[in-house]
Amino acid sequence: MKGDDILNFLTCFKVPEVAKSMAHLLVTPEERKIIEIIEDDIYSIKDLSTLIEKKFNVNGEELVRKMYKRAVLNKVEVSDGIYYKTSEFYDRIAYFCQYETDIWLSVPRKIRDEIDDWYVTTYAETAEPRVKEVIDGKKDVIENAYFFTLQETLDLIDSLDKQIYSVPCNCNAVSQRCEKDKDVCLLFETGINTQWDRGHGKLLTKDEAKAIVVRADKNGLMHTSETDQAICNCCGCCCYPIRASKVIGTTGIWPKRRYDIIWEESKCVNCGRCVKICNFGAFVKEDKKIRYVEEKCLGCTICSSQCHVKAIKIKKI
Ligand code: SF4
Ligand code: SF4
Ligand code: SF4
Repeated sequence: MKGDDILNFLTCFKVPEVAKSMAHLLVTPEERKIIEIIEDDIYSIKDLSTLIEKKFNVNGEELVRKMYKRAVLNKVEVSDGIYYKTSEFYDRIAYFCQYETDIWLSVPRKIRDEIDDWYVTTYAETAEPRVKEVIDGKKDVIENAYFFTLQETLDLIDSLDKQIYSVPCNCNAVSQRCEKDKDVCLLFETGINTQWDRGHGKLLTKDEAKAIVVRADKNGLMHTSETDQAICNCCGCCCYPIRASKVIGTTGIWPKRRYDIIWEESKCVNCGRCVKICNFGAFVKEDKKIRYVEEKCLGCTICSSQCHVKAIKIKKI
């Protein structure tokens, strides 16, 4: 895609400046032309399939479904049914990084980092008014609302009456800042524009879901949830909610801290496990001795579940 040819696509797909050099990787030439034809309109699957078949020698319905799966198209619900519309870069990039990882990794690191920074900033801008509504008591929760303890997360899974499926962590897929477990995003939602509706996700039994959470805890991933949409198992370096919250200035409020840590120095055997587990450097080892740096702690509680001599207790705030 070159010159004017791509300009219309960049506008229709809301591609930010930082991503322009890799935008051609996001869509096929056919998909780009379809996006340019659709612009701001919405189409029924029948009309869009017919349009595609007239323009290209392909099965229209199959291509629409494929574009929806790749988050190149989104669904929109109107009074007489479900229609399709063009997605945008913001929606597509996460799916691209999650499911076309090799192509994403072929983009130079500098450009990937710029896109990652843009994503955090953009996410923070969209989240800020919602976080504010929660603070003002006008809204109950938003995504990743609370830090959950290991036990609370396992209990939540037991209490769920929805199907649970796992998808690759999209924050980690875009950021690629660490090598921690990747298939740790546990989702329950199945409506339009969800991963499930697009054809992604691995269905889990409750025991399988709990095993993922236990392993995540052991590997230093923190559990966050708003109870009815997802259970996330997040690291501190990639996680968009945690990074966006820092940008907004709501660390400790979103995800909400609900526990304080009580470190009993006399019980500590200086094994250093909490130093490895903590995502924020709140436990440090100096001269073979452990020190707890309270002001760095976000109260995620995973150090407590992973301290084998129970030197770290949690106290509900
Ligand atoms: S919120 Fe957490 S688990 Fe969910 S996608 Fe982001 S880092 Fe991964
Ligand atoms: S994990 Fe527990 S015993 Fe080990 S260093 Fe940390 S507080 Fe001490
Ligand atoms: S010290 Fe605080 S932030 Fe670090 S793992 Fe423990 S509870 Fe989480």
